[in-house]
Amino acid sequence: MSYDLIIIGSGPAGYPAAVRAGQYGLKTAIIEKNPKLGGTCLHVGCIPTKSMLHSAEVWNYFRHAGDHGVIVDNPKLDFSKIIDIKNDVVAKNAKGVEFLMKKNKAEVIPGFARLLGKGKVEVTAADGAKRTLEAPHIVLATGSEARMLPGLQPDPEKILTNVEILNLREVPKSLAIIGSGAVGMEFASMFNRFGSQVAVFEMLPRVVAKEDEDISKEMTRIFKKQGVRIETSAKVSGIERTKTGVKFQVEYSDGKKETLEFEKLLVAVGRKPNTENVGLENTKAELDRGFIKVNGYMQTAEPGLYAIGDILAGYPQLAHAGTMEAVVALGHIAGKPALAVWASPKPTPRAAAMMSRWASSPSSPTARPRFSASPMAL
Ligand SMILES: Cc1cc2nc3c(=O)[nH]c(=O)nc-3n(C[C@H](O)[C@H](O)[C@H](O)COP(=O)(O)OP(=O)(O)OC[C@H]3O[C@@H](n4cnc5c(N)ncnc54)[C@H](O)[C@@H]3O)c2cc1C
Repeated sequence: MSYDLIIIGSGPAGYPAAVRAGQYGLKTAIIEKNPKLGGTCLHVGCIPTKSMLHSAEVWNYFRHAGDHGVIVDNPKLDFSKIIDIKNDVVAKNAKGVEFLMKKNKAEVIPGFARLLGKGKVEVTAADGAKRTLEAPHIVLATGSEARMLPGLQPDPEKILTNVEILNLREVPKSLAIIGSGAVGMEFASMFNRFGSQVAVFEMLPRVVAKEDEDISKEMTRIFKKQGVRIETSAKVSGIERTKTGVKFQVEYSDGKKETLEFEKLLVAVGRKPNTENVGLENTKAELDRGFIKVNGYMQTAEPGLYAIGDILAGYPQLAHAGTMEAVVALGHIAGKPALAVWASPKPTPRAAAMMSRWASSPSSPTARPRFSASPMAL
């Protein structure tokens, strides 16, 4: 079967690319290995966390209502209901993405895609059936997954990634988080407000180390004030499951060592690009530590092959960045005016957005989050 364009992956990079392709009148196929469209952001990233952060914020208002002269007798937290609400938000938005694919006439092909080179893509369906598709242009948008520590496997109960933690049905009494990047700090903020005793262990000398130092300082101050334990220059080792939770050793910069036990452990040590097993070895595309190198129009070194989203070397791993990269790539593919976007070393505006969302206190309400499946800038 042949198309003008094949897109691999339906996250916030892939599905806006399909929308744009429809607007440009391209015959497009979008291949997705998961049963639902929307990718990490919609199912186990931006959207579910923002739904739960909003619930955490509401709960926090109720807990501190008296400070504002509002008397609330005996407020109760129904955490399982919060998870149901989150699942609802995700399901509605996944339907929204499906609708966008129909509206823009992109053919959704379920299955695992692999590049065969020279404009060919092999798709393996869930039942093992294989078929080959062809197109002069291919956009790879296979995204990323949680990086694990060597020798460690996540499970639904004790050692968690962003996937498992979003399905807990009870608030853990205590939660240790390894890694203080965007994901680690977001969950620290959320579960601290839900009432867990939260501790963050960061190997580097400061939290959110990709952001400006001022941001790290301010976040550390606010998080500590809110009751989150923050340990920087702290090296975690010897992680093991116990009957009641997870035990590990921490070594601090002064050489002091400590053994700690928490009910749950979240590993948030970064995101691994999904560039293995997708057939890149059949192309001329170049990699940098697993991430794909592109020029400002998202072109790889393989003619006709573009890459967008979390798999890119040097670009921020953010949903709206992926969407913008889709717009640029599609403009270039369709021969429309497209502004080149080059990798930026310092995505500073993101830090400001993080601060307002995670560090807001009961006395500084933030706007109610909007959950929209419509791609930005389209
Ligand atoms: C907890 C958490 C919170 C986050 N919060 C935010 C936030 O608030 N704001 C923000 O901007 N970003 C946030 N992010 C980052 C955001 O989720 C990612 O930047 C974004 O999802 C990347 O989009 P993508 O399309 O590149 O990849 P993904 O969303 O990962 O989508 C890739 C898709 O490709 C599919 N796929 C992979 N391989 C194949 C294959 N071989 N064949 C077929 N299909 C395949 C996958 O199943 C997936 O559906 C968050 C991430 C996490 C983990």
